This record gives sequence, structure tokens and C-alpha cells, in this order.
Amino acid sequence: MTRPALILHGGAGARRSRDYTAEIAHMRSVVEAMKPRLEAGEPALDVAVAAVVMLEDSGLYVAGRGASPNLDGAYELDASLMDGSSGKAGAVAALQGYRNPVVAARAVMDQTPHVMLAGEGAARFAADQGLTTVDDPAAWFTGAGQGEDNHPPGTLAHGTVGCCVLDMEGRLAAATSTAGVFGKMPGRVGDTPIPAAGTWADGSAAVSCTGQGEYFIRLAAAARVAWGVEGGQTLGQSAQSVIDRIGALGGDGGLIALGRDGEIAAPFNSQGMKRAWLGVDGVIGVEVFGR
Ligand code: ASP
Repeated sequence: MTRPALILHGGAGARRSRDYTAEIAHMRSVVEAMKPRLEAGEPALDVAVAAVVMLEDSGLYVAGRGASPNLDGAYELDASLMDGSSGKAGAVAALQGYRNPVVAARAVMDQTPHVMLAGEGAARFAADQGLTTVDDPAAWFTGAGQGEDNHPPGTLAHGTVGCCVLDMEGRLAAATSTAGVFGKMPGRVGDTPIPAAGTWADGSAAVSCTGQGEYFIRLAAAARVAWGVEGGQTLGQSAQSVIDRIGALGGDGGLIALGRDGEIAAPFNSQGMKRAWLGVDGVIGVEVFGR
């Protein structure tokens, strides 16, 4: 039996000029809701999905309800998840019209021979699965993140949610969900729905990234953290070196990572990264700007 642990994030687009009281309270409430489920022995993947659904539904982050639109005014959402114990993954990209992209990603993993479905095909699959629709995007989406990191179109300001979990069986899982970067071109897909880029889980680490996805894709950032651990680095060293490389390429963002022993890492090179965690010691923490 392993002592369970969890870390979640609400994006690395945090600005010092903004007040995150609501997000801090919400992130804590998500961790508090997941703690008893983990202690009751729920699998890591189920808990990761449940946490991301709460983050998506809150309307506080640039994912799910909080999504902001692309340059055409359409809401194209991305999500992925990965189960470290089975090595299975599922993803949706540029999905329109559905409330919880992470649930669609889970269905792709469980119900299809594929890893990723995109665009119209993803939406048709979600309909076949009976997933909850968003019938009136203008009324549903809050565009929460627009005030968050309100850069002009093209400057790739961002926000996302994600969660990494270690369960009592020692299994690791990760899930990530986003509306992508502000001012994105129609059809643009970032790192979030791409296993190895924005999300990763194997036997040594679970990772969820947030930031300018183009850089995370080019580095296979999420998987690279786990490979560093396999190569002998600590989780903290490996995670930091990936963020250093993102910075060296000119990108910004952060990531959350959880090791099989419950070690937690959350490096970022942006102003802040909203995050909350449950350590193997049972203690819950929340941070935005502190390292
Ligand atoms: N990484 C996401 C993307 O590029 C955005 C974010 O994390 O804020 O789509």
C-alpha cells in the first residue's frame, strides 16, 4: 500500500496584478473532495478525471466552462489523459460543443482503438457516447481567462487545468484540459491533448503541463520529465531542467509532476502557476506565486 498524493494546476498564466482568492478556495476544495476518494482506494485515473471535471465546470480557468474563443469566436477545446499503470492514453483536440473534454478523452481511451480524435470526428464520437453538450456557448462559457492573461491575439497568453495522481496501489495518472492560448487560429492544437507533450504518466512519473504549448510540443516536455527520472535525476531536477529548456527556447509556462514515491514538483518560469496538492503526509497546500 502506498500513501496517496495528488497535485493539480489551474494554469501558469497567473498575473501578479490579479486576485486569485476564488481560485485558491476552489483548488483547495477540489483537493479536499479528492482526498477521501483516494483514501478509499479509488484508481488514480478516476480521481484525475474527477478533479479535472471539477476544474472544467468551475468556469474559473481557461478550460471547460472558463474557455475563451478562437479568432473565429468558436470554442475549440483540447484534453488528454494517461494511465501510468497500463500505458493507455486518450485525447480529444479542437472539440466543439461538449462540456467536459476530459470525459471525452477518457471515452476515446476506453471505447476506441485510437488515442486521439479531433474536430468533427471527436464531436460525433462524443455525441455517440451521450456526453453532455453545450447548446448555447455564448451563455455557458465564461471566458474566465481573458482577464487572466489578457494579451493581444498572437502573443500566446494562456491558461489550462491539469491533475497528477498517485493512488494507494502505487499507480500514477495524469489529465489535462484547456481552451488553448488566447487569440489562437481556428484549428490550432497545443500540447494539452498530445501525450508526451502536455500530459504523461508511466511507472516513474505523472506530468501535466501548462504554458505556451508550441514549446512543450517541441520538447516532448511531459514525457521528458519522466525520462529524466528514469535516467537517474530526481523528479525535481528533471522537472526543473525541462522548464529551463522551455525558457531557453523562449517559451513560458510550468508543469506539475508527481513521482512514484509521492515526490511533488511544480516548476514554472511565468509569474505564477495556480496549484494545489495533497502530499503523502496527508497535508494539503495551495500556491500561486510562491515557489
Ligand atoms: N498549454 C496550453 C496550450 O498551449 C495552454 C495553457 O497551458 O495555458 O494550448
